[in-house]
Amino acid sequence: MDKFDTKCVQAGYNPSNGEPRVMPIVQSTTFAYDTPEEMGELFDLKKVGYFYTRISNPTSEGLERKVAALEGGTAAVTAASGMSAITLTMLNILNAGDNFISTATIYGGSFNLFNITLRRLGIDCRFVENDTPAEEIEGLIDDKTRAIFMETIANPAGIVADFEKFSRIAEKYGILLIVDNTIATPALCRPIEFGANVVVHSSTKYLDGHATSVGGIVVDGGNFVFKGNPRYPLFNTPDESYHGIVFADAGKTAFGFRLRAVVNRDIGAIISPFNAFLTNLGCETLHLRMPKHSSNALALAKAMKEHPAVEWVKYASLPGDADYERAQKYLDGGMAAGMVSFGIKGGREAAAVFQKELKLFRICTHVADARSCVLHPASTTHRQLTDAELEKAGVPVNLVRLSVGIEDEQDIIRDVTEALNATLK
Ligand SMILES: *Cc1c(COP(=O)(O)O)cnc(C)c1O
Repeated sequence: MDKFDTKCVQAGYNPSNGEPRVMPIVQSTTFAYDTPEEMGELFDLKKVGYFYTRISNPTSEGLERKVAALEGGTAAVTAASGMSAITLTMLNILNAGDNFISTATIYGGSFNLFNITLRRLGIDCRFVENDTPAEEIEGLIDDKTRAIFMETIANPAGIVADFEKFSRIAEKYGILLIVDNTIATPALCRPIEFGANVVVHSSTKYLDGHATSVGGIVVDGGNFVFKGNPRYPLFNTPDESYHGIVFADAGKTAFGFRLRAVVNRDIGAIISPFNAFLTNLGCETLHLRMPKHSSNALALAKAMKEHPAVEWVKYASLPGDADYERAQKYLDGGMAAGMVSFGIKGGREAAAVFQKELKLFRICTHVADARSCVLHPASTTHRQLTDAELEKAGVPVNLVRLSVGIEDEQDIIRDVTEALNATLK
């Protein structure tokens, strides 16, 4: 079971004699026991087992084991959504008065969480760019800095993270490096191999891959020593809700253990067993889908680059792209998944014509579906911003985001080319 493709199909669930071959959906909130003593031991974390689905569930756990295996982590915890996975991760290490560093070109939802909601709770996010010089980033670190956060392939900017620089800084200061690997997926990049300590996902995207289930997951890299690290009092102080347990003592599974036993016990942002089942099913073909998304996207990006209605194309595996070298370095085979952004000539009006003319690509607030889809941020997700504000946020008014599916390559190119042609009429 060491090869990646085999793990996609089989990791996480291994039936015993006579048990269902397919991981069952355990649609039960509760689990029955013979004695109150045994149940008490479960509550005290002295015994391992299921007792309430808010804490753990066999179906969710099957998905957790699979994704932990795919990412090369020691454990994983599922969550209700990508946003809740990120929120739980941050609350696992940060108190009011603490701070962390994040790249600014990240998913809009994460940006809002960091810039507004966490700030309201007294947690300060210090934004940097992927290419901010190391000395400048180090200048933002103080003894209350608890994490560095970035995305492997930023959504929607398409920037590939500078793992070498950020992991060197994180290691130098004993700070946790958290990487959102949603767009790359472990099929194209395993951030733990490049120094990440925690990997988070919106499993809503490629892990599910079929646009059926909102979900998230947090993977513990097991490669960070909390014990005695003064930056992490929450892991080194006895937890009274568990009779004085010290989570750092859990060693290689401390991060995930505390996130499950404390943070999500209190927040309760869990995935449903049914969504975990569907997400696990999606993961079984991840190794087949990601190369197809990537080759379709690259072929389309190349064709679009030559089209007279296109101002620019952003795709990291396109030769000459600003992120090309990093894509070759950190992404398997230089493959950069299915998200392609481009600038359309003619701004809002042309973007509207383009979207209406598309046939295979449907207008969806989504990326990473097997089906191709399109979104024009300026008229949807970012519609409240002025043209100047859009420019500043890195989503200029002419930016159109395509999520390239796994349909036939020539059909995809034809659909986009014909819709682009219509904008020139
Ligand atoms: C979609 C997305 C999220 C948020 O995930 P949800 O499942 O929608 O909550 C976080 N990070 C990235 C990179 C995403 O693309």
